[in-house]
Amino acid sequence: MEKEGMLKALNFLASKSLEVGTLVTDRHKQVSKFVRQQHPHIDHRYDIWHVSKGIKKKLGKLSKQADCDLVREWTKSITNHLYWCAANGIDGDDILKRWKSLIDHICDEHDECYHTTLSPEDRRKKWFTPGSKAYEKLYDILCSKTLLPDIKKLSSQHQTSSLEAYHSVVNHFAPKLLSFSYHGLHSRLLLAILHFNENFGRPQARTREGKERLAIAYTKAKAGECTPKPIPVPKTYIYVEKLMHKTVEYCTAGEKHEHSESPPPLASAYEHPDKDTTPSFSRYKR
Ligand SMILES: [Zn+2]
Repeated sequence: MEKEGMLKALNFLASKSLEVGTLVTDRHKQVSKFVRQQHPHIDHRYDIWHVSKGIKKKLGKLSKQADCDLVREWTKSITNHLYWCAANGIDGDDILKRWKSLIDHICDEHDECYHTTLSPEDRRKKWFTPGSKAYEKLYDILCSKTLLPDIKKLSSQHQTSSLEAYHSVVNHFAPKLLSFSYHGLHSRLLLAILHFNENFGRPQARTREGKERLAIAYTKAKAGECTPKPIPVPKTYIYVEKLMHKTVEYCTAGEKHEHSESPPPLASAYEHPDKDTTPSFSRYKR
């Protein structure tokens, strides 16, 4: 599905004579392979959150092993470091160089580091001992052959979070649990787009005294930890009013708008076997 969706998106952009310079996606393997082979001129980058999520998961597993508790204490610093590398690296090689500086840093070796003198706060955590089980296993994760090439391709400017937010709006208008007709789903997608575009990037709400409003958020990803979250101004629904006006306009004008034809269902493209003669069905027979 991911590859199919991207294929359609790229074809759509090409049909509008738009050339894709940079593409930011998650680490979906089929997509990476497809871009590498079919669109070698596109600069393919990875969303930091998705890479960070993968590392965090591995570190979480490792921290549960015997003598590896220290990994838990360092997990947040390690993922923060990933964001810092992507934000400050000039290019892929520089991002990777910054990432690798972590390997010595966690052992209290700072020759390759980019920071100035460490404050007592920075020295609060225990350092790793080279050669220890925790360090060796951590090293394998941080410098794994599959991770390092992806670190080089971290996106420094654009992330996929707004797309993710859009998908959650689509999920609201067209829940995956329910099935809709072709035109039903199409209409719901259009509504989701109108709603998203009208409400995306709302400014932070303010109190009567003019102070910015914040909420305390507890997220599943940061088990037990709370973070301040800006409260945006309330949503607006101007698009609903506009749609109503248009509908009334069309109806009073007595105009008729015919639906375009729905495409045939996906399953109709496949061969339908005969239940009585197909051998794989026979074992279900009494
Ligand atoms: Zn350091």
